[in-house]
Amino acid sequence: MRWLPLLLIAGLLLPGCGPEDDYDPETPWVEGELGTWRAGLSVAEAGGCSTGIVAGLSRQLIAEVNCLRPNTLTDFSGANIVAGDVVWPFLQPGGTTGLRAAVRARGQNIRINSALRTLAQQYLLYRWWQEGRCNIGLAARPGHSNHESGLALDIEDNAGWRASLQAQSFQWFGADDPVHFDYRGAGTVALSGLSILAFQRLWNRNHRGDLIDEDGLYGPQTEARLRASPTDGFAIGACPAEPPPPPPVDAAPPPPPPPVDAAPPPPPPVDAARPPPPPPRDAGPILDARPPDEEPEPLDAEPVAEMPPETPPEAPDGGFEPDFAGTFAPESPDARPPLPAPAEGRQSAEARFTGTGGCTLTPGAPADSNGTGAWALLILALGRRRRRARA
Ligand SMILES: [Zn+2]
Repeated sequence: MRWLPLLLIAGLLLPGCGPEDDYDPETPWVEGELGTWRAGLSVAEAGGCSTGIVAGLSRQLIAEVNCLRPNTLTDFSGANIVAGDVVWPFLQPGGTTGLRAAVRARGQNIRINSALRTLAQQYLLYRWWQEGRCNIGLAARPGHSNHESGLALDIEDNAGWRASLQAQSFQWFGADDPVHFDYRGAGTVALSGLSILAFQRLWNRNHRGDLIDEDGLYGPQTEARLRASPTDGFAIGACPAEPPPPPPVDAAPPPPPPPVDAAPPPPPPVDAARPPPPPPRDAGPILDARPPDEEPEPLDAEPVAEMPPETPPEAPDGGFEPDFAGTFAPESPDARPPLPAPAEGRQSAEARFTGTGGCTLTPGAPADSNGTGAWALLILALGRRRRRARA
């Protein structure tokens, strides 16, 4: 006997195994004016004529049903389906599929005035009806409305939609409640006990010192707690708190860094792609061969003038070799090529040194008289040698 409640709850969670639907007759409900709301307002204190005042609590109740039995209530919102702000657009999966198919088949907008109703909403309707308020013709007891099943729809233009909905296993209620259709397709579950159980679990989760039976039955014990419940929902919502989320979030960060680190490579390829710097345009083969610290002998130097007349003139530093090669060769004076005209040789030397750093000759420098004097002395010395050789 002790495990009887467990069997009852198991029955609620299994499709087709719950208590038979025991729906009270009721007349269509049209949402009215929203009552005055304040933080902490209880369900018992809710006024007005709109069940939207318990929207916060209703949202938790719907979520709790789907926690108890995942995918029991599915959102049918979509193209061509128009529902009011206070309407909870939920049906059991077969109903959602059927409604969408009917809308596609007819290709028109369907306007829905009522669909899923939570236990808290139904409590308000029943109480307002008992109090003779809000123009309610007849309301079902909490837990006994077919709108708590997740299978019912109240629509406009029921005559226009009848064929399309019936083709999808929706049953028209009849002339007593012409706006009402119930989905009677396969795979549905009796939801009444499940919706009551959802409330009982939410209550107990938030009131450890005032636990009630979680039996899916609506009695005085459950109704008292429902009346005391906050219209905007409990501090602890549907489903047990799930601490797991934080860890995965912390574990996620690592990925970003790798791509960022992988980006740097660009610089190296750029350097590698750059061709080696071309040799200095001005660097001539001879000047390059000279050690950097070795300065070319200035043209001003007058080696010939300092040279004894009998001593063959030494070739100046390598810097002059191309232009003066042979000019100073002492071995065979006759074989040496004709001496370039002084002006030309000088011009050539200037051109060669133009732009070479470290050369004393610079472009645009005034003709130096010392250089001219050196050439004159050189020519005189050579002339003297020739004459002496002839003699
Ligand atoms: Zn209805």
